[in-house]
Amino acid sequence: MSDETPVLILLGPPGAGKGTQARMLEEENGLIQLSTGDMLRAAVAAGTPAGLAAKAVMEAGALVSDEIVLAILQERMAQPDCNKGIILDGFPRTDGQAAALDQLLADQGRRITAAVSLEVDDEAMVERVSGRYTCGACGEGYHDRFRKPAKAGTCDKCGGTDMKRRADDNATTVRERLKAYHAQTAPLIAFYEAKGVLERIDAMAPIAEVTASLGRITGRVAV
Ligand code: ADP
Ligand code: AMP
Repeated sequence: MSDETPVLILLGPPGAGKGTQARMLEEENGLIQLSTGDMLRAAVAAGTPAGLAAKAVMEAGALVSDEIVLAILQERMAQPDCNKGIILDGFPRTDGQAAALDQLLADQGRRITAAVSLEVDDEAMVERVSGRYTCGACGEGYHDRFRKPAKAGTCDKCGGTDMKRRADDNATTVRERLKAYHAQTAPLIAFYEAKGVLERIDAMAPIAEVTASLGRITGRVAV
């Protein structure tokens, strides 16, 4: 068993299930979920300079600049809770981000434990993303078809009734996001394979099966 704190990367297109699985790993293994998408949405909502620069890019389904994303991630990773294990959700997404992550981890004396590729079909992703909504109070994720709360409109976790849908979760923008994924992010699968840290999971399976596959990997890497 390694005494290094785990660094897990979840790779996969929009809708692959990165956020769903990262939240479960956070709850069950005490890891910290680091979602650059969530950080950027918070920056947009707060109207920070980074948020103002990112807003239109995100609405168009393109990738925000490495400079902005790295600044936001580095600031978050400097916080003490990140000394525990982390799950990177939606980062890295470009060669430049992957290289910067290697450097950041080397500076902290850490390394990547596993990069898990959630493997899915593009067409199914449009339905997954279009049907996604979250509880505005606690952030729990749901889906019109695949993950309904026990009582329609009410969060299973916190009882909240303010469900939110993302502005960029429409069929047109999803297709742009999938293009960005294939052009700029998918090549990272080979990058992590060459490093010997890649694991692949069939993420077309139901949520619980994906969680079980991930559990077999995280168990092996001693999260
Ligand atoms: P990502 O973070 O990779 O963009 P999410 O975790 O938000 O993706 O999942 C997208 C949507 O698909 C959510 O509404 C979620 O409930 C649903 N979902 C996630 N994993 C699966 C799965 N294995 N099968 C069916 N639906 C899923
Ligand atoms: P996500 O929540 O991961 O689906 O990301 C939503 C949007 O935020 C993406 O479509 C991008 O515009 C932006 N984004 C999130 N993470 C990154 C990243 N690592 N690099 C560039 N853009 C990002």
